[in-house]
Amino acid sequence: MLRKRTCHLFWTIALLNFLIPGEVPAEERGHFVLDPGHGGKDPGSQRDGLNEKELTLDLAKRIKKVLNGRGHSVTLTREKDVFVGLEERGEVANEIPGSIFVSLHFNSHVDRSVAGIETFYWPGSVEGQRLASYIQGELGRRIVTRNRGFKPEQLKVLEVTRGPAVLVECGFISNRWECQRCQSSWFKQVLAEEIAQALIRYFNLPKPPSPAKTELPVVPIIVSDL
Ligand SMILES: [Zn+2]
Repeated sequence: MLRKRTCHLFWTIALLNFLIPGEVPAEERGHFVLDPGHGGKDPGSQRDGLNEKELTLDLAKRIKKVLNGRGHSVTLTREKDVFVGLEERGEVANEIPGSIFVSLHFNSHVDRSVAGIETFYWPGSVEGQRLASYIQGELGRRIVTRNRGFKPEQLKVLEVTRGPAVLVECGFISNRWECQRCQSSWFKQVLAEEIAQALIRYFNLPKPPSPAKTELPVVPIIVSDL
């Protein structure tokens, strides 16, 4: 009998912890570091008065709002229009143990017909690849565009970050159709909700015991940030 009551009490506490976000320990809520690409003196891609640095900050704030609403804590690598170095961005995530890092970008190409969404992870990073696959999978559900897939790439900001890390290119603003779409707030909101949903799904996965990032031999060429 005593045993039964103890068991009942255990499940009541467990359920309360699940229902009340404020009662759940911080490490169990998941911490996301969102990195709005570019900023300050570095506008990133530009077209028709649209700056990548403004789009990425807007998107990051929208994702933060969705994640906060679902009980997750979020840190942005920049809160306003300032320049932040690539290493500094990765270090923000490294200083928060267990955090998940997502760098946000919009792409550009000399061929203006090029379009689509793609997500990059550091070569050999099992968790980066898994996270990238979730983001691409989620974005491909509601956004009509070319799914360019998830790919390994030696991007500086991913090299610096020690935990699970990805860089999402949310569309080509050099493409007329995608540029127009990026100017609308509904599109940015859909992007934000889909990325947030992917992050939550990834966070809720049972974690394998393997390290988040596989150590690789030093490679001579590092592709700089896109
Ligand atoms: Zn960029």
